[in-house]
Amino acid sequence: MANDHAWRDEPPGDAGDNTPTSTSHSQRARVAQALLALSLLLAGVAAMHTGAWLGTVDRDGLWAWTIVSVIGFSIPLVLIQTRVTEKLHDPSLTLPQMLLASTVAAWAYTLAGTSHAVVTLMQALALSFGIFGIDSRPAVYCAAYSILVFAVTMVRQCLVDPVRYQAADDLLLFIFLVLIVVGIVINTMRVNRMRERIRTQKQDLQQALARIEQLATLDELTGLPNRRFLQQALDAEGLRSQRSQVPWCVALIDLDNFKRINDTHGHATGDAVLKWFATQAKTFMRASDIVGRWGGEEFVVLMPATSLPDGVNGLQRLKAMLEAQPSSPPPEGLTITFSAGVAQHAKDDAVAHTLELADQLCYAAKRNGRNRIEK
Ligand code: GH3
Ligand code: MG
Ligand code: MG
Repeated sequence: MANDHAWRDEPPGDAGDNTPTSTSHSQRARVAQALLALSLLLAGVAAMHTGAWLGTVDRDGLWAWTIVSVIGFSIPLVLIQTRVTEKLHDPSLTLPQMLLASTVAAWAYTLAGTSHAVVTLMQALALSFGIFGIDSRPAVYCAAYSILVFAVTMVRQCLVDPVRYQAADDLLLFIFLVLIVVGIVINTMRVNRMRERIRTQKQDLQQALARIEQLATLDELTGLPNRRFLQQALDAEGLRSQRSQVPWCVALIDLDNFKRINDTHGHATGDAVLKWFATQAKTFMRASDIVGRWGGEEFVVLMPATSLPDGVNGLQRLKAMLEAQPSSPPPEGLTITFSAGVAQHAKDDAVAHTLELADQLCYAAKRNGRNRIEK
């Protein structure tokens, strides 16, 4: 079997989807399948009674067969409709219904007299409905059961009623029944392989989507949230703060004399410094803060539930940690400092305005000699 699922329950296209919508879709598909099985059975019952009326089907035992068959096919419908089977491994009861169909068909075969060949056609039709509802292994069990039960029934009928059930005819009938059943099993396997491919493709697509989302929100060099993500987080914080009194701050950090690092040590070293700084900032700012790369050598820190003094303290802590680094970023001995502006968002103010304020304060920090934090 190509996968772990013993039964095929979900309708095509819902493979692996457990959302409430798909669950109710599956439930509808199960009820529809059970209704279809019952309708087919009723058509078969009508055909058998017509045969009895025409005199080719035995009347003895026909009503017993009718009652048992109708009740038998009604039970799965009721159980599915009332959701009793929902927690079962095979909630659509496909295999029991198919085994029941084979049993009922074999019984009908014994009643059908000279019309018995028609019953094997009905049996083949009933089995073909399992193609979309059953997994490969249960399909094989079902086919084996069907062949066995018909083999036994056919031999028995040839022995007890050799006039109407002639061995040569029934042998040919049996061979064709086996061929049809094997064909149905092969098709069931092909459908299951197709379904498995769709399931795998769906998983691949979901993974690709997750990767795209990651690429869309993360900065490639530093692995920090990118400007797009930061902007969304800032907007969300702005909306949240309209409904609460809790202050929050935003800091704009710009590495000092970064161009000189690039010019002196090369662009690759500049990149390494940016990555190193990103790690430090993430490590030393609080877990609830969002540190992201705004662009170039500029970083933004969103500090939810933080007053201005606390926000400045957070940046001071980062500055002190950078200065106290036992090991410097590559190359050895290179000192990295930053200038930053910290602004507290004023309730009902635009987020863009708060950012602008942090930017101006950062410029002020540059003007005032760099390696400092302005508020
Ligand atoms: P200041 O202290 O006034 O901020 O000076 P600065 O040299 O840091 O500022 P400036 O804006 O003149 O230079 C920023 C430099 O950052 C220029 C740009 O080439 C470099 N840069 C931007 N993005 C990257 C990057 O991804 N990798 C590297 N290595 N350098 C970058
Ligand atoms: Mg800059
Ligand atoms: Mg700079």
